Amino acid sequence: MIKSPTKMLINEYLNQSQKNHIIATLLKHYKVKVRVVYKPIKDYAYYVFGKGVLEISNKKGVIKNEKDFLITVLHEIRHAIQATKLGWRNLQQSYELEIAHWQSKNPKDMDGWMRNKREAISFEKEAEKYTQKNWKKWHKQFKKEGLL
Ligand SMILES: [Zn+2]
Repeated sequence: MIKSPTKMLINEYLNQSQKNHIIATLLKHYKVKVRVVYKPIKDYAYYVFGKGVLEISNKKGVIKNEKDFLITVLHEIRHAIQATKLGWRNLQQSYELEIAHWQSKNPKDMDGWMRNKREAISFEKEAEKYTQKNWKKWHKQFKKEGLL
């Protein structure tokens, strides 16, 4: 069976060059350096401590639309900014201490912090707060540029 390339383009919420442009614009604005890798992961994205790598899911149905994409990228860039401010080793250590603290209070649910990141980890709370405050401004700008 042959897949229709036209149909695939219609179904994709943003094409690769739109994604590249959004990410390049944001990285330049926030003055952070990360290498972007697309992977078929079931979570939206990861910022990998110490590698300066931003992994973004290209698994179908995980990131559903342009808003999801923008919010995901902004959130992860915020982690890259946190890493720049604190040093990635300090960030990783503090992050892990907060996980350990959460686990010590929830010994029967050691992985539960992952489902409660914003409550468990101050860096997640801060990144999410920042993202919620800023994504609309970027959305508006990318719309104005005719990109979205
Ligand atoms: Zn996060």
